[in-house]
Amino acid sequence: MLYRKMPKNGDELSVLGFGCMRFTVKEDGSIDEKIATKHVRYAIDHGVNYVDTAWPYHMGQSEPFLGRALADGYREKVKLATKLPSWMLERREDMDYFLNSQLDKLKTDHIDYYLIHALVGELWDNVEKLGVIDFLDKAKSDGRIVNAGFSFHGSADDFKRIVDAYDWDFCQIQYNFLDEKNQAGTEGLEYAASKGLGVVIMEPLRGGNLTSPVPSAVKEIWDAAPTKRTAAEWALRWVWHHPEVTVVLSGMNKETHIEENITMADKAYPNSLTEAELQLVKKVELKYRKLMKVGCTGCRYCMPCPEGVNIPLCFETYNNLYMSDSTDETKFLYAARLGGILSVGGPEFASQCVQCGKCLEKCPQHLDIPTILESAVAELEGPDLEESVAIAKQVLKQT
Ligand code: SF4
Ligand code: SF4
Repeated sequence: MLYRKMPKNGDELSVLGFGCMRFTVKEDGSIDEKIATKHVRYAIDHGVNYVDTAWPYHMGQSEPFLGRALADGYREKVKLATKLPSWMLERREDMDYFLNSQLDKLKTDHIDYYLIHALVGELWDNVEKLGVIDFLDKAKSDGRIVNAGFSFHGSADDFKRIVDAYDWDFCQIQYNFLDEKNQAGTEGLEYAASKGLGVVIMEPLRGGNLTSPVPSAVKEIWDAAPTKRTAAEWALRWVWHHPEVTVVLSGMNKETHIEENITMADKAYPNSLTEAELQLVKKVELKYRKLMKVGCTGCRYCMPCPEGVNIPLCFETYNNLYMSDSTDETKFLYAARLGGILSVGGPEFASQCVQCGKCLEKCPQHLDIPTILESAVAELEGPDLEESVAIAKQVLKQT
């Protein structure tokens, strides 16, 4: 296992982190604790020392499970990360309630890496108003948390604004070769690193869409490379190539998968891809963009929409519908991410578009946004949308 240094505190963190949102589950949907414990401990025994969970993962069961899985001395072998559910905060006291409950659930007296979960610009404004900076300062000084960070899903501009708003130790962003210009993107990654923040990466395989399944036109490009690597290895190596990246998270639930990732992480040096290999990844990226339903880069120039449509996220999810092998999961994520549960401004669905056309001239890709949104509505929104939003609320808002 290779390790990279957290810039502000010198912690040597494994380049591969264990993401705790996709454990093996039983038929009834509960975590298969025997198997999942084996997986977590196997990864730790093979050098993984960063474990990342959050309040809502596995319907609230990830944290208490992890508390049990890290018994027998495993807690001391890792840096533990979990997150404050920013969308559930109504008062300053809520922050202490969540953190103290998390310490109980995780059977620990401190969280090594504590993140404000899933920020976008408006959510940040809200939690800042509620006193999150005072909360972080106090939790750090009384030792309940060691390092403060945030995970992020908004625009690059809001990302920079949040980076500048507090003396953060680290942040967590979505990053892969299709998201260079989406959300924080490369601009955000470099900005955070320039300010001395460690950067943890989520979605290095874009929710599995870069590997399952690999379209034949893409596979042909990978297969033509002189160095043979799987699609997952290419995608992960591309992320690790960036020296600004500290840890890359992977939600691992198969032994073979864990072994493969650990083997790949052994070669994950910064700047380790050649110019020719980077060109190859670029070729694959362009091929994906051709295969995608919508050529949206996520630049957000079209935003804000006066009707509240989150245009880039609608298009990202619409593309995922075509890249993913799980239509149900993509539709559920559409309901969860755009249903207003994680935002302060209410729902952001494609169906809110009134075809005013105000976004049209702002799109550098010259996309016919209102028409594409209509198609997205037809495929992503159906009679079960309301029910999916209700389930997502249950999952994300249980206390
Ligand atoms: S056309 Fe639709 S998406 Fe574009 S600005 Fe108007 S309401 Fe928003
Ligand atoms: S629709 Fe166009 S302007 Fe909006 S995010 Fe996508 S590429 Fe950028």
